[in-house]
Parts: sequence; C-alpha cells; structure tokens
Amino acid sequence: MNHYDCVIIGAGAAGLMCAATAGQRGRKVALLDHANKVGKKILMSGGGRCNFTNYDISAENYLSGNPHFCKSALSRYTQWDFIALVEKYGLAYHEKTLGQLFCDNKARDLLNILLAECDKGGVDIRTHTEIFQVEQAPTGGFSLTTSAGRYECQSLVIATGGLSIPTMGATGFGYDIAKQFGHTVTRRDAALVPFTFKGPWLALTQSLAGVAVPAQVSCAGQSFAEALLFTHKGISGPAALQISNYWYPEDSITVDWLPGVDLPNQLKQWRQNAEKASLGTLLSTYLPKRFVVQWLEFHDEKELLQKPLADWRNRDIDALSDILQMWQMRPTGTEGYRTAEVTRGGIDTDDVSSKTFASQKTPGLYFIGEVLDVTGWLGGYNFQWAWASGYCCGNHV
Ligand code: FAD
Repeated sequence: MNHYDCVIIGAGAAGLMCAATAGQRGRKVALLDHANKVGKKILMSGGGRCNFTNYDISAENYLSGNPHFCKSALSRYTQWDFIALVEKYGLAYHEKTLGQLFCDNKARDLLNILLAECDKGGVDIRTHTEIFQVEQAPTGGFSLTTSAGRYECQSLVIATGGLSIPTMGATGFGYDIAKQFGHTVTRRDAALVPFTFKGPWLALTQSLAGVAVPAQVSCAGQSFAEALLFTHKGISGPAALQISNYWYPEDSITVDWLPGVDLPNQLKQWRQNAEKASLGTLLSTYLPKRFVVQWLEFHDEKELLQKPLADWRNRDIDALSDILQMWQMRPTGTEGYRTAEVTRGGIDTDDVSSKTFASQKTPGLYFIGEVLDVTGWLGGYNFQWAWASGYCCGNHV
C-alpha cells in the first residue's frame, strides 16, 4: 500500500504544476499517469515550441458556463508569475504575435522546468499507471486500485485533461470520476479545431489548399481577425481555430476577407478614376490574385474580372462587397478530437470552488485544468489556465 497526502491523476500541464506546488509545501505527493511519458501535450504544443502563456490574459479569453469562475485563479497566479518562474531557470523565449510567448528552442526546456520544480517538492512521478478504481476510504480520503498497486491519500486531484488527441493519451476518465462523485458534466465538443466542408465548398477549399489569407471571422457575436488557411478538407489557421470555440453545428460563420477596408468606396474611387488595371491586379494589394480569381469564379461573378472598372454598376459593387466582406459559410463539421487542441465544456464549475478547486460534493476531491468547463482561446490561454488552476489547487491540498 502506498500512502500519500495527495495523489494527482494526470501528469500534464495542470498536474505537474499542482504537484510541484503541493510538494514544495511539504505534502507527500504522487503524480500518476497512464501514458509512457509526462507532459506529452506540452512537448507537441506550439509546433514543438510551446506557446506557454500570453502577455495579455483576462477572463474574456475564456469560455465557460460560468464566465466568472476562471477570474480568481487567473488573478492569483498570473502570466507574470509563470514568466518569473521560467526566467528563474533562464528559459529563452520570445513573443511571436498578439502577446503569445513561445520557447526559443524546444518545449522540452519548459517541461524540464516543471520536472525540476516537482523534484524540488519530492514528487513521486509514476508513468504507465492505469487507474482501475477510485473509492472513498472508510477512514476518510481515497483508495485507488491501479496497475501499480493500491494508493491511499487524503486529497485526490483529477488533472486528466480533455478529449483531444486520443493517440496522445487523452481519455474521458476525469468526466467519469466527476460523475461517480455526483458532479455534472456539460456538453463537450472538439474546439480550436479546423472546419470541414462537403460538396462545392469543399471543391473550392481544395482548389485553394495552402493559401492563407488574413480575414475577420465572426460567429455568435464573437470576431477574430487573424490568418485563415484553406486546406484539402476545409479551413484552418488561427482565425478558423479561434472561431471554432464559438461555433455549434448548423451555425453560419461570416468572413470578411478585407477587414478594415471600405471596399464599396474603394471600388467607386477606382471606377471614378477609370482604372485600367484588372480587378485582380487592383485587389492584389489586399488579397492573393489566385484567391480573387477562384473566389469570383466560385460565386459566378467571373465576368467582373474582365469588366473595365469604368463600366461597373452599383449592383456590381454591392455584389463584390458582399462576397468579399460578408461571406456566409456553413461548415459541415470539424475535424474532431483527432486534431482539436482542446475540449470545449467539461466538469460543471458550479460544484467546484474557484479558489481551491475542491469539489463541493466530495471533501478531498479536486479538479483542475482542461477537464473543467473552462476553455481558452488560441494563444497560450489554455496553458495559463492549467498553470493557474494547478497552482491554486496545489496551495490547498
Ligand atoms: P493535459 O495536458 O492533457 O494532461 C492530462 C494528462 O492526463 C495526460 O498526461 C494524460 O496522459 C493523462 N491521463 C488522461 N487520462 C488518464 C487516465 N485515464 N489515467 C491516467 N492518466 C490519464 N495550449 C496553449 O495554451 N498553448 C499551446 O501552444 C497549445 N498547443 C496545443 C497543441 C496541441 C496539438 C494540443 C492538442 C493542445 C494544445 N494546447 C495548447 C492546449 C493544451 O495543451 C491543454 O489545454 C493543456 O495541456 C491542458 O492541460 P491539462 O493538464 O489539463 O491536461
């Protein structure tokens, strides 16, 4: 029998942070994971460089049934606290865009910092450990039956993350434990995920596969202006991933391919100047020519490509403005958990303390990280949530 003050299941971002914090407070901590390695998502994130936080973090960057839930932890362990931690270890990092911080070298450097912090706290890390059963012990605390024997602990932390990338070890374990102990689990969907199309729209995206265009995408009252990438299955790129957090099946997404440009006025000016250049050439200061040609062909407005600007009617101007600035698309679906970066939804935060992450149903039980119904935007927000919730919980267990 292995006795611990605290057992944490899931050695990902949140579990490692929680283990290091609790261990350094003198708690005897075991960190268990069924995978062969710890922190796999840290290693694969940000193209191998891990976008570990963002200079600009606020509750508005998160989705949750309770939009206030994330505020307490995010204010008690901020991006500046995490930056101070990595700077203490001399991690070389840089801002890529929009406040997003990445390792200069490898995500492994960041994982090594978390492992060093766990080491400082004397955390026992056990990989290859399957959890078969979790029970409340008659004397209080919990008893775990695992492939590595029995564990007993006073505090049990569930940090098993969401459902994305099952091949990396993602499971629904955390949701099952939550239900076992009387918690509600909200609807879950693949999020920060590329969209797929069928039929003519699929043919269109395939013909443009590899082309990236800056765009403003809007859905359900939320907008993002970032790059949108055409793929062989549909659309991806930061703009598509961001808006996927807000999209539900059947929803339309509006795309403005010329954000900030007053296209009707610009076209009228070109008409007035009787511009000789073709529309494709004139628009190429804003958009790739190949994109403009395909786009107009797809929308049966091919003749506008040849038509001298001086001959344009107002109706032509309106038609072009509509297809370039108010394009409505209805994706067939998403690529799903196979490629999603996160799971939207999770354990309902109503029965979890936003300060300690303790279950309000079962004393001694805690939930942290992505397994909760808190989903961040693309840009380091999900890791910051893992660090913040892990830290606050680790200070309480
Ligand atoms: P995880 O990091 O997923 O950890 C969960 C752990 O639990 C895993 O080690 C898993 O093996 C273990 N586990 C699961 N089930 C069981 C079980 N039954 N028994 C035992 N152990 C179990 N976010 C960012 O902020 N920036 C990025 O750059 C970024 N890039 C990403 C790139 C990709 C490809 C993906 C998939 C995600 C990315 N994310 C990024 C999201 C981020 O990785 C997650 O939000 C974050 O890792 C969640 O932390 P977590 O500790 O809650 O869960």
